[in-house]
Amino acid sequence: MQTILYEVHNNLYVNLTNRCPCACTFCLRQTMDRMGSSDSLWLDHEPSAEEVIAAFAEYDMTKYGELVFCGFGEPTEALPVLLEAAAYAKKSFGIPVRINTNGLGSLVNGKDIAPLFEGIVDTVSISLNTPDEKKYLELVRPKFGAESYSAMLSFAEECTKYVPKVVLTTVETTLSKEEEAECARICGRIGASYRIRAFES
Ligand code: SF4
Repeated sequence: MQTILYEVHNNLYVNLTNRCPCACTFCLRQTMDRMGSSDSLWLDHEPSAEEVIAAFAEYDMTKYGELVFCGFGEPTEALPVLLEAAAYAKKSFGIPVRINTNGLGSLVNGKDIAPLFEGIVDTVSISLNTPDEKKYLELVRPKFGAESYSAMLSFAEECTKYVPKVVLTTVETTLSKEEEAECARICGRIGASYRIRAFES
């Protein structure tokens, strides 16, 4: 049976899709098949909202700190399912909802998706990776090409209008102190928080 939900620390993660418009040089999918309590995060089919909601019934949804849409792919590739499942979870269990994303969801969906998160999503966590646009494109290798970096930052800024907490992240030890300071400045400019996270391996 495929893994739709899995636990990481005190949170419950949702694995909606294996699709992603990026091919990051550091993508964990290249070296591992699972995370947290999951078996394999490779899906044999993308779950419908009904399947995700049925999977919630197998868990005590009141015991987790957050419901995190993340998994082995970009969650906004499955936007309608994400929105329906997130709205259901929030209404039924009052659980805070976070999306971990590469920030390219508006390009993926061909429209500004940030307004759709209002009242449903509590936190959007976006991988900034680097303050340097050229380096970003080399690292993330997005299929949308050159417009991706500015689109990711615009998405983050848009999200600040609709989502209580918007966080841009980089991974510890991958940047110089000067680069981290530049990331903090970028976050300050668009009204997002900056978080340096541990490498997940
Ligand atoms: S955005 Fe995430 S899932 Fe997609 S290639 Fe990069 S690290 Fe992998």
